[in-house]
Amino acid sequence: MSTKYKGYTGKAVCVDLGSGLVSDYEISDTERELFLGGRYLSTKILWDELKPGIDPLSPENVMVVMTAPLTGTNAPSSSRYDISAKSPHTGGIGHSNSGGNFGVYLKRCGFDALIVKGRAKKPVYLHVKENAVEIKDAGKLWGMNTQEAQDAMIEKCGKGGTMAIGPAGENLVKYATIASQERMHGRTGMGAVMGSKNLKGMIATGSLKIDLHKTEEFKGHIKKWVKMLQDHPATGDSAPKYGTAGFLTSLSIKNALPTKNFSSGTFKDAYMIGGERLADEFLVKNMGCLSCPIRCGRVVNIDGREVKGPEYEILSLLGSNMLINDMEAIIRWNYEADLLGIDTISMGTTMGFAAELDEKGLWKTGIQFGRKDNISQVIKDIAYRKGIGKDLAEGVRHLKKKYGGQDFAPEVKGLEIPAYEPRGATGHALGYAVANRGACHLDGGYMIYFEATGPITLNALHWRSKPSWVVLDQNLLSAVSAGGNCLFTAWTFVPGIAYKTPGSAVMSKIMTAMLTHSWKLIEWTVQLPEWALNIHLPILPHTKAIALATGMKFSYGRYMKIGDRGNTLERMFNLREGITSAEDRLARRFTHEPQQPGNANTAVPLDKMLQKYYRLRGWDKAGVPTRKTLKKLKISFL
Ligand code: SF4
Repeated sequence: MSTKYKGYTGKAVCVDLGSGLVSDYEISDTERELFLGGRYLSTKILWDELKPGIDPLSPENVMVVMTAPLTGTNAPSSSRYDISAKSPHTGGIGHSNSGGNFGVYLKRCGFDALIVKGRAKKPVYLHVKENAVEIKDAGKLWGMNTQEAQDAMIEKCGKGGTMAIGPAGENLVKYATIASQERMHGRTGMGAVMGSKNLKGMIATGSLKIDLHKTEEFKGHIKKWVKMLQDHPATGDSAPKYGTAGFLTSLSIKNALPTKNFSSGTFKDAYMIGGERLADEFLVKNMGCLSCPIRCGRVVNIDGREVKGPEYEILSLLGSNMLINDMEAIIRWNYEADLLGIDTISMGTTMGFAAELDEKGLWKTGIQFGRKDNISQVIKDIAYRKGIGKDLAEGVRHLKKKYGGQDFAPEVKGLEIPAYEPRGATGHALGYAVANRGACHLDGGYMIYFEATGPITLNALHWRSKPSWVVLDQNLLSAVSAGGNCLFTAWTFVPGIAYKTPGSAVMSKIMTAMLTHSWKLIEWTVQLPEWALNIHLPILPHTKAIALATGMKFSYGRYMKIGDRGNTLERMFNLREGITSAEDRLARRFTHEPQQPGNANTAVPLDKMLQKYYRLRGWDKAGVPTRKTLKKLKISFL
């Protein structure tokens, strides 16, 4: 088994935990050319391996750990890798990406991917060595938190890349995470899949070199790319200074900060939980994933220990969305949830929904807006499925079915909405509705970045412009991920000049209008064939890096087509599981109740946007990819 392309190791390994068999797994160069790596190459494997309708928590589910061609190459922010499986939380495609160190070490062991099948009879962990994998007893690790388990594997096997689940994964919490160092594979319950396989963790301890196609040219290109990131206002200034929490106060000003279970977009105490205050009063230092010059991670002090600090999502979901302005408390809750292995987005949104159920008398739990004293206990109860934790561990979709609140339940396809009020940004709202893994800001195209975070943005409420932008951004971000870079490296796609506040309000309005009305051009661009965009764009150094690393013929057009193809493949996976356009929905609160009473534009015109989005993707009116589209994308075998 090998590949003609550099950057890859050319090998994948499959571990059957039921039989204990370890075998080679074949990935062809055609598959590499079509899907590149990461989540899309994983989805292709899941498409081939899974029978439709299987229980995601049964031994029949397959878990794929997948790197990408740039993983571990020293390209900026390229420690990223994916874990994919059928999601126990949504029943559709599940995947989650992190910048922890396991992916890099997996490649250093000589493997691009590790596929896990079956279920072990008792708790185990995997020790991946150079060109070999050993299944080891994890009896003593079971019950440990995410950091203790990783430390224990290092103690036994030596220094290496690690990942582990915590008690939440062991107890099959539907939104359990997998931690790699302190970085989380947060969404869609991949931790529960690992728990269902009795797999506590993995450690990879190789030191093999990754060969590149044109090493010297690659190094020169990377040097220029790093400088570009350091010179850009978003990646060289705001992200290292304030982390993702730097968005919080401006999102409140722009009505996009979820407040009181997404009933409003503005929180009067936004500064108290924002990135500026975090930097001024709590930050010990910033930190980065391996090979990352952006370093958006926060380090804070808890009980004399330096630990990972909170990101934007939990600051808003356990802050404004719960009407809590106590940053110190949120820092602690974040730490507790990470150790237990719980996705802070799904957990935070579920708590906000529970607080509204409590307020309306639909489910009395004591989880209340503004109440802080019981939150630590609730987090523990979720991880161990105790008391109300049994229901909370199932997420918002379960709660709304059992207790009501359908009209204000913040979820799509079973996945809880992340920390952006959809009525504050129509493109972002559309992204939530159509993202294949359920409500996800990243898979939805992260439109908020273009609609509400800088001085010059798209008009956030102009719906006509959004379907084409969402297609463009989804294709772009997912290709960035499939190549192995952090999505934040794509921020340079917006030229630095856009961050300079225009001289006057009139100027700002003119520039916003010009940008917003560029949508016709965007619509035309996203429909161009691959060959028509056979170029590298200076604002997107990723494509040239992949060409230099792998030796593939690569271009901007090919990159975007990989995003389009992968998105459609995921859509087909979901359709095969019975997830249709009927689930491209948002709760009535977002589509029928204007955020600002009397201003109809502040409700999301979802139906109008959806039909246009489907058309641009080459899907029919029911949101099903046509045969012609599948053929055009070279996936007519589906
Ligand atoms: S930008 Fe942040 S999340 Fe992305 S790789 Fe760097 S440190 Fe990690």
